[in-house]
Amino acid sequence: AKLKGRNQYVFFEALEEQNKSTNVKVEYDFDNAVKNLEFIGNYQPLIDFDSGDVIGAEILVRWQHPKLGLLYPDFFIPILEKSGQIVQLDLYMLKLAVSKLNLWADWLPKQFKLSVNVSTSGFASEDFISYLQEQHLLSAEITSRLCVEITEESLILNVDAVKKHLDILKNINIPVALDDFGTGFSSLSYLHQFSLDYLKIDKSFVDDLNEVSNKVLILDAVVNLAKSLKIKTTAEGIETAEQYQKLKEIGCDLGQGYHIAKPLLDSDFKRFFLNSVSE
Ligand code: C2E
Ligand code: CA
Ligand code: CA
Ligand code: CA
Repeated sequence: AKLKGRNQYVFFEALEEQNKSTNVKVEYDFDNAVKNLEFIGNYQPLIDFDSGDVIGAEILVRWQHPKLGLLYPDFFIPILEKSGQIVQLDLYMLKLAVSKLNLWADWLPKQFKLSVNVSTSGFASEDFISYLQEQHLLSAEITSRLCVEITEESLILNVDAVKKHLDILKNINIPVALDDFGTGFSSLSYLHQFSLDYLKIDKSFVDDLNEVSNKVLILDAVVNLAKSLKIKTTAEGIETAEQYQKLKEIGCDLGQGYHIAKPLLDSDFKRFFLNSVSE
């Protein structure tokens, strides 16, 4: 039904109130969730297009909320970004990633990379970067298996902190991926000044890969320009065999998506990886 005038106002006001109380709840529950280890990681495999091998994974947060059930990041991350608590979550997930790499050290190949997402404020924070520096001193072998995924927003806001932190990561051999490429406004030539290692091409590009669309041409240009800048490309959100084939032909380096595997529980990821090796 169409809402008019005052009714519409009341409707939006009620919606606003409802959102406010959900936000308050998420913020309030967050501290307990950290204490009770309610956040878990799902692990989505990344494959190398040339060999077809699983050469990495991305850790994706899930919240096992005692009352609300399993919550996904698209719901709670925006709220934690507003409250500032995202910085704590980023560090939590980074620590979880490091602990998994320690746990999996004996069966993961040397070149394997586990990618961790970090928010704009998380990447600008001192805690995130100093934790990585500490871990590097403890075990460079473990931290060499990490990759940090940042967004264009991170590069644009906090430019000074970001440049400093990117330099530190370079010095301790932790590669950086630019997430969701193609959704922002930056050109590759602008991004080159930041010394990025991977470009993750957003799913929206992959979705439109058919014969008639000129997305193929754009993608082809992006992949080749990245290549000439020594940046590897990862295609995200591959859902079909056709997309997979096309991206491989274009010359993308890495692939990720439901067609390869969904984000998996840690035990399932281990099984998936070991099966893929024995094939
Ligand atoms: P993202 O970093 O772009 O991660 C990829 C998202 O696409 C994931 O959603 C993944 O489950 C989904 N996906 C992967 N392959 C496919 C596919 O073939 N089809 C479709 N439809 N979706 C696919 P998810 O896990 O819900 O995460 C959403 C976003 O939340 C992430 O987008 C990332 O921006 C953020 N996020 C996740 N974990 C963390 C974290 O630990 N810290 C921070 N700061 N952000 C996180
Ligand atoms: Ca990501
Ligand atoms: Ca992405
Ligand atoms: Ca995204």
